[in-house]
Amino acid sequence: MIELRGVTKSVPSGTGTLTILHPLDLIIRHGTVAAVTGPSGSGKSTLLGLVAGLDAPTAGTILIDGIDITSLGEDALAGLRGTRIGFVFQFFHLLPSLTAYENVLVPMEIAGARDGATRASALLAEVGLTDRSHHYPSQLSGGEQQRVAIARALANDPPLLLADEPTGNLDTATGHTIIELLLNINRSRNTTLVLVTHDPELAARADISIALRDGRVVETRTVSRKPADDVAAADVEAKEGVG
Ligand code: ADP
Ligand code: MG
Repeated sequence: MIELRGVTKSVPSGTGTLTILHPLDLIIRHGTVAAVTGPSGSGKSTLLGLVAGLDAPTAGTILIDGIDITSLGEDALAGLRGTRIGFVFQFFHLLPSLTAYENVLVPMEIAGARDGATRASALLAEVGLTDRSHHYPSQLSGGEQQRVAIARALANDPPLLLADEPTGNLDTATGHTIIELLLNINRSRNTTLVLVTHDPELAARADISIALRDGRVVETRTVSRKPADDVAAADVEAKEGVG
């Protein structure tokens, strides 16, 4: 479960302070698909970066499965990111000098996994890229590169997958296949999926959608597509704080 309590983000700007995220409370339960929507500059990437522990909030607390990541040191945070959080970027961010297989292997080697070689092959098979394992990123299409990036994000079987506009650099048809892949991963692995998207159709298919505007949540929507036992797992509480 992801829980944000009174999370804000401000940065110094000229003579004053620019508030990127106003106080935000949010709960995303395990196994949920959450879509974050909103116009460019509304704070979507900032929110995702905070949840990933890539950036620290100015105020507030972020708990991931009960762990207060805002109180962790850099090493503990890096460890958590390496094993419990997968991140998929708009521009793939694969290492260009490594093959697809090697890109997927890297996070497992960092985490000291013993069965990395077997798992890397299995993950590439899971994203449908067995026959491209030994290609370099420059030899792969955008959609294939994003598949590799997804396999890499799953390397240590994280309970949480974050994706920032994962189809933003792909044509519509390829984008759809990537979305189906991500939704399948949520279903088959019960991975919590938080994704930033401009696609209203996708936002409608998510269990919850969170719309941001100028750093504030302007709308949340919850859909209970899960079995009755799991309805509680698909809810969200989002409200604006004071300020
Ligand atoms: P989105 O992903 O919704 O397009 P971002 O989270 O990237 O929005 O950014 C939200 C706003 O905060 C934008 O106006 C952006 O310019 C600003 N911003 C983001 N990061 C910084 C930063 N480190 N310093 C100054 N302004 C920033
Ligand atoms: Mg963004």
